[in-house]
Amino acid sequence: MSETFSDPTGSTVVSAPTLYRRSGKVSPVSLVVAAAVLIPLGIIFGAIYSAAVVYLPFIKLRGLVTFFVGAGFGVIAGSLCYKLKYRNWLMAFLTVIGFTAIGYYSSWAVHPALVIGAGELGEDFVPLMIQGFDPLMIVGWMKGIYTDGIWAMGAGGGGALSGWGAVAVWVLEAGLIFGTAFVSGMAAYGNRPFCEHCYRWNDETEELAVLPVSTTDPAWNQVRNGNFDALKKLQIDHDSDASYVELRLADCPTCDESDYLSAIGITLTVDDGQLKKNETDIFRHLSVTRQQRDEIVEFAAAMAEAVQLMKEEEALNEPSGEEAESSVGEEIDPNEPS
Ligand SMILES: [Zn+2]
Repeated sequence: MSETFSDPTGSTVVSAPTLYRRSGKVSPVSLVVAAAVLIPLGIIFGAIYSAAVVYLPFIKLRGLVTFFVGAGFGVIAGSLCYKLKYRNWLMAFLTVIGFTAIGYYSSWAVHPALVIGAGELGEDFVPLMIQGFDPLMIVGWMKGIYTDGIWAMGAGGGGALSGWGAVAVWVLEAGLIFGTAFVSGMAAYGNRPFCEHCYRWNDETEELAVLPVSTTDPAWNQVRNGNFDALKKLQIDHDSDASYVELRLADCPTCDESDYLSAIGITLTVDDGQLKKNETDIFRHLSVTRQQRDEIVEFAAAMAEAVQLMKEEEALNEPSGEEAESSVGEEIDPNEPS
């Protein structure tokens, strides 16, 4: 296994493998489909959101609705970018923000008609909604609220929201919608590698190996540089249960030319009684050959067994605190049948 890396200093013999980079491609058909789906959907969702805000009686509920609408915009647009095989982060970002902007604009456009109400407007209700898409109408409506307050514009009861108070609410609302849309959108789009050869996303195996080691172990540098034997040199950290390193593998299910290894530092924290997994990349999506991939999988299997044994051992003789430093390689001696 180690013939290729005979250099005793551990420095790289071969050139360091590259990290995955998206090709930047988006097919024109994908863009047309995205526009055809998202433009009407944005207008409809924006109008529904506007109605919810106008008719919901509780201010807290409105805040919650705003949050979920933003997240909803993001998830819809982000997953569509994934489905349409965007390999371009910027285009995915623009699609998410563009969709959200259409929805937000639409919520303003239909706002006057909803606030004045169908009962008051009668036959003019739908035409006013459509007229509302004129940007001059929106500006006029905003100015009206700023000077006279929203309740003066038709709706009854409650306090009048006007002036800079109204502006502050708008800024907060827009920030919440666009912020949650961005976060949820880019999460839904994801960061999987794409196999240009087979025109499909890679499958990603999380927790290929869970290593009780430090993220700052110097051996990671060697691994990053393509010396995968250095995985066995990682120092096992017996004390820390709250942090570990997860190896992940992303590979193409239909060919052997798109294999990537990730090493992610995981820190577990308890936040409001909820266990949270915080990730820090040691490296993400490092290009590996199929042979290296197989070796890493083998290592992971042996490692899982070793960690299991180690845990059983530790459970038997309570941690004494005087354990000698051991490395992953010692834990999995391939010459010793398990
Ligand atoms: Zn492939």
